[in-house]
Amino acid sequence: MAGVYVLIALALMLLALIPAKIAADKGRSFLEWYLFGIIFFIAALPAAVLARDERAVCPLCRETVKDEAVVCPHCQREIEPEIPDRPVRGDQRYVGVLDDLRDERRRR
Ligand SMILES: [Zn+2]
Repeated sequence: MAGVYVLIALALMLLALIPAKIAADKGRSFLEWYLFGIIFFIAALPAAVLARDERAVCPLCRETVKDEAVVCPHCQREIEPEIPDRPVRGDQRYVGVLDDLRDERRRR
């Protein structure tokens, strides 16, 4: 009878690789998501599928970096924050940008 539990444990350890791989491909920790998958596979799989992709490409060297990186770990150069088409009011990252845009419009 103990053999059944061993089989279930082995199956969970194999299945947990799926959400771990999906999450790792989005720039997240493979180990954390693997453990999450072993403990709670039913929740880990949809959570991994729905997780936001945390990766971005450095505009200077084209290497993959975290999307919130300010300095690229590969080329050590500063990464300019991406300016959205319509700046989001209240987003601290764009406070200076909004002022610059307003000044630019006044000058025209
Ligand atoms: Zn770079």
